[in-house]
Parts: sequence; C-alpha cells; structure tokens
Amino acid sequence: MDISPDTTFTAYRVDLTDDGVTRGVTEVGLDVLPDYPVTVEVHYSSLNYKDALSASGNKGVSKNYPHTPGIDAAGVVVDSSVPDVAVGTEVIVTSYDLGMNTPGGFGRLIRVPSEWVVPKPDGLSLREAMILGTAGFTAAMSLDALFVQGLMPNTGPVVVTGASGGVGSLAVAMLAKLGFEVVAGTGSPSAKTLLSELGASRFVSREELSEASKKPMLKPEWAGAVDTVGGATLEHLIKTVQPRGSVAACGLVGGTDLSLTVFPFILRGVNLLGIDSATCPLEKRQTLWKQLAGPWKPDGLDKLATDIGLDELDDAVEKILAGETTGRVVVSLRD
Ligand code: NDP
Repeated sequence: MDISPDTTFTAYRVDLTDDGVTRGVTEVGLDVLPDYPVTVEVHYSSLNYKDALSASGNKGVSKNYPHTPGIDAAGVVVDSSVPDVAVGTEVIVTSYDLGMNTPGGFGRLIRVPSEWVVPKPDGLSLREAMILGTAGFTAAMSLDALFVQGLMPNTGPVVVTGASGGVGSLAVAMLAKLGFEVVAGTGSPSAKTLLSELGASRFVSREELSEASKKPMLKPEWAGAVDTVGGATLEHLIKTVQPRGSVAACGLVGGTDLSLTVFPFILRGVNLLGIDSATCPLEKRQTLWKQLAGPWKPDGLDKLATDIGLDELDDAVEKILAGETTGRVVVSLRD
C-alpha cells in the first residue's frame, strides 16, 4: 500500500453521541492517526474482551471518541522514519496504548512508536500471530511467571479458569503441549470437546471454582493456576493452591474484589503473580513471541479461530461481552 497525504483507509469507528454509542465501518483519512514514526498496514487483528469494552464506549478503556478499537495488529510496515524498523518488515503490535486511546487494529492503517513493534518471528504467519494476539501473549506471560516460580510438569496439575475464552483456551493448549496435566475450569459445557482436543485432561465447573467459604484455606489441589476470572474464583484458587504453588492473575470477567486472609501466603508460601501484558517491556515481549512461534506454539491453532471481517464486528462485540465467545476471533482486513 502506497501512502500519500490523500490516502484514505477503512476503519471500524466508534463514537459516543447523546443517543449513545454508534459504530460502523467507514473510510477515514490519515489525520485520524497520531504523529508516530512507524505506519503499519494491518492485515489481521483480533477481538479481545478489552476491545469490546472500548467499542461499547467504556471510558475506563478509551477516553476519547470517535475512536478505532483493536488492541492487536499484525501487518507490514509501509512507512518508517526510524532506521531499526524497515519498510516491508512483517510485524506484530499488541498492547501498550494501541486500540485504547491510540487508533487500533480495527483500521487498515495504524501509526505507532517503534518501541511497540515486534518483528514477526519465523514460525508464525501474520494470521496465526493474531489467533494468538494479546490473549496468547497474556497466556504466555502467565506461563512464564509460573515457570519462574518453579512450576514444572511433575509438580502437579495446573488449573486454567475461563478456559473456553481466548486467554484460557490458549493457556490450556500451551500447558498441554509442554506436558502439564491441565484442568480446565469452565462454565461452558459445550466447549468441553474443544478443550479436550486442546489437551485438558479433566474439568472443574465455574460454580465449584467460585464457591464461597469462610475458611482461610481449603484442601490443596493445584500446583499452579492461570486465572482469567478474578473475584471469588481468584479467592478460591489462592485458598486451594498447593504449598509454594502459584496463581497467575490476569483477568476480571468474574469480578474485581478480593476477600482474603494472609494465611495462604504465610502458612503455605503461596505466590500471587500479577500479569499486565500492556506494559510488558519490549525485550521480554520479543522473547515471549519467539516462544509462541516455537516450543510454546499450540498445536491446531486453527481450531481456535473464527475469522470475520470488519463488518461482522458488531455481533462479535456483543457476543464476547455476553461471555458467549469460544476461542479466538480473528479480524481480517485484507481485501
Ligand atoms: P474471553 O471473553 O474470550 O473469555 C473469558 C472467559 O471467562 C469466557 O469465555 C468464560 O469462559 C469465562 N466467563 C465469562 N463470564 C464469566 C463470569 N461472569 N464468571 C466467570 N467466568 C466467566 O476473554 P479473554 O480471554 O480475552 O480475557 C479474559 C480476561 O483476561 C478478561 O478479564 C480480560 O480483560 C483479561 N485480560 C487481561 C490481560 C492482562 O494483561 N492482564 C490481557 C488480556 C486479557 P468459560 O465459559 O469457559 O468459563
């Protein structure tokens, strides 16, 4: 794609008016993009829970409207004023402020700082990079944090909550590939076949994982946990993780509050590991993307992907907000 001052491009734009949220696919000019040095032609993006919040006018995610959501983008550099990012390079851009207050991957062009740009590693196509996207990267950060604390396949079962979602399903697939016994925590019985195919060896229900108890600790069950749900589920995991086990906490679909005592931490040495993919430093980001393209790349990534165009985003946004999305939604911006 050649860029000139008159260039226009297609984008899924969201606006807030007195009548509420309006959104749709439209043609915009380069003036909607910020003044950053690297311009990328987006081939694929993906839909994350955060995108759905941004597309719903959630000011905690995106303060300024009209706006183009899309926290993930994979494509080709079409303009660059920095020597270390060459025109023609295939790149992945995820997180930081992309799609939050910087126009994101639901537009055919994005303009970003060079520090946000990761060269696509060999071993992944641009589409595969977006099947993974921020969800896969967050799952990888969670695994990395658990491994730093000593989690190994022989230390015991690892539970993944919200297992049918983007982060959850990819965490299940990666852990299974690496030889772990994976327990899928899910409220979606219809997703069990897929989760078994991805490598889950057994299931635990959403209700069981969020059962309230006044006891400060419960029977130890898991060597580790990846929690995408938060709230009562995270409380339950911290109470049921084995001594010196760890819980990687990355999500909040089930709640943000925690009611706990210090006992799991001071009597069992439990580790609560916070996962924040948005601010992950570039060096770590590059290392984890190489893992995702290599030994951690889940088998059968395609099984997880539903491909849509920009014009199908409205429905997909409603579905993910209603907790009805299984796996990953890949947004194609190709003609
Ligand atoms: P998805 O919507 O794809 O998946 C969420 C899953 O959680 C659902 O599929 C469902 O799985 C389960 N779920 C939905 N609603 C509830 C509920 N009310 N109570 C309990 N479980 C529920 O989202 P993502 O995988 O993209 O993101 C998951 C979470 O991780 C979100 O909170 C997101 O904001 C967060 N996140 C955090 C990042 C970070 O850097 N910290 C980065 C990316 C995401 P099931 O039916 O199997 O139970």
